[in-house]
Amino acid sequence: NKVLIIFGTRPEAIKMAPLVQAFQNSDKFITKVCVTAQHRQMLDQVLQFFEITPDFDLNLMKPNQNLYTISSEILLGLKPVLDDFKPDYVYVHGDTTTSTFAAIAAFYSGAKVCHIEAGLRTYEKLSPFPEEVNRQLTSRIADLHLAPTPKAKQNLINEGIKEDTIIITGNTVIDALFYAVQKLENYEDSEINYLNTILDNTKRLILVTGHRRENFGKGFLNICNALKKIATHEDVQIIYPVHLNPNVLEPVHTLLNGIDNIKLIEPLSYPAFVYLMKKSYLILTDSGGVQEEAPSLGKPVLVMRDTTERPEALTAGCVILVGTDPDVIIFEAERLLNDEAHYKSMSGAINPYGDGNASNRVLESLIQAI
Ligand code: UDP
Repeated sequence: NKVLIIFGTRPEAIKMAPLVQAFQNSDKFITKVCVTAQHRQMLDQVLQFFEITPDFDLNLMKPNQNLYTISSEILLGLKPVLDDFKPDYVYVHGDTTTSTFAAIAAFYSGAKVCHIEAGLRTYEKLSPFPEEVNRQLTSRIADLHLAPTPKAKQNLINEGIKEDTIIITGNTVIDALFYAVQKLENYEDSEINYLNTILDNTKRLILVTGHRRENFGKGFLNICNALKKIATHEDVQIIYPVHLNPNVLEPVHTLLNGIDNIKLIEPLSYPAFVYLMKKSYLILTDSGGVQEEAPSLGKPVLVMRDTTERPEALTAGCVILVGTDPDVIIFEAERLLNDEAHYKSMSGAINPYGDGNASNRVLESLIQAI
């Protein structure tokens, strides 16, 4: 049996890397990797860290790409790959343009489609955009649904998906995180050395990331204003690796450059980012992956979004949804800075997203299914 694993962005690469390793270490399948390279540089850094060499590289990223160009190029680019390799099973991940259009291409080719991180939902078409529709469409196409949590499985059942095609695996991001944490024990690179020069160990580190489209405009202005206020605390250092999208880069640099206690830096490679997560006191983010990873490191997360497809961490008590109202962000950040019992209860909550064995469960589920 032949398996093709397809992904295109940094977060997908991080979450698919442990799966590639599990499949390539198994003698049950011939496994190949195809990257669309919807993101280029950030993807390559991840491939290098996880020691993965793609068999097919569509190299699609172009200046000024948009959803129309990238979607059609994925479909057209995958045809020769699918014709050449003729996979029996194609694995796609999550909710990106690559996931959905690779799933459609695989379906056209006659391969069975297996969807990793299936069943996450906000049921709000525009939040997040275009991810919510991408993930719902991918569920319509997939033959095998690998759900990270019981809640995700239930969402799929509610939509009429047959229960015997859904397997709960945990999220592969925890596998990736554990790999990174272990590798970091004997790892050094120029980015980590640089971080050591800017880190102020006498202060509590607040790590910030943000990139969601629905926060472009007013959302990012609000977030920056909240960060300015939080940075007035003497014993706090904010480090913010700023996403390269101009809708993020411009407001953040305009509003936060040169502010005391705030360091704006470029996006980090995965090991450097994990290093910084480990050093942090708390994390402010609108990222999906970061809120899944941080609880495994005992770091509380304030999620700067109004909706979430990841309610499990809210229920477990590891994250709080704060939206982008500056008063709420400031209030919740200060509560974590000042209320020790509250901090302990959040940082000690158990991560509902997995135990680091998700990829092996995915592999086993296919062995069982054939
Ligand atoms: N990440 C990284 N470098 C950074 C910021 C994030 O390697 O500067 C990692 C992070 O650890 C997580 C993933 O990228 O695994 C999350 O990606 P992102 O926030 O872009 O996407 P999302 O998870 O929201 O889809």
